[in-house]
Amino acid sequence: MSLKARSRRNAIHAMLFYSGGCNGCDIEVANALLSPRYDLEQYKVLFTWNPREADVLIVSGIIAWQLLEPLKKIYSMIPNPKAVVAIGSCPINGNVYKNLVGDIGVNEDIFAPLDNIIPVDVKVPGCPPRPEDILEGVVKGVPKLVEAP
Ligand code: SF4
Repeated sequence: MSLKARSRRNAIHAMLFYSGGCNGCDIEVANALLSPRYDLEQYKVLFTWNPREADVLIVSGIIAWQLLEPLKKIYSMIPNPKAVVAIGSCPINGNVYKNLVGDIGVNEDIFAPLDNIIPVDVKVPGCPPRPEDILEGVVKGVPKLVEAP
């Protein structure tokens, strides 16, 4: 097993990318999962804001047009092998936003589903999903990282 695979088996670095929505999912990640109650880091899942350090990209939100190119760029900056976890119904299917068509043409400005843009390994549905389900989703992406040569 390579040093990188061995390191990943012991600690996964996850990066959260918010792409538009109500922030409910981000609260579950940034507040609940990192709180003492769930204590994500006890499972050796560590957060990073540096895509070059990340192993797992966690995406929340509807992929608003302003964030489409930044999302692609960040995805390309994460070294291979990498896993993508879509959390919440927004990146999976557009959720409540997909049928909104207002004066600003909201519907044309939403690029969900995420798997039309980048490959998605794990989908965690819910609005928002429970913290336990998000944690399970991140862990489901681990085999892809550690089994890679
Ligand atoms: S899935 Fe629900 S909670 Fe999460 S960002 Fe979308 S609307 Fe908000």
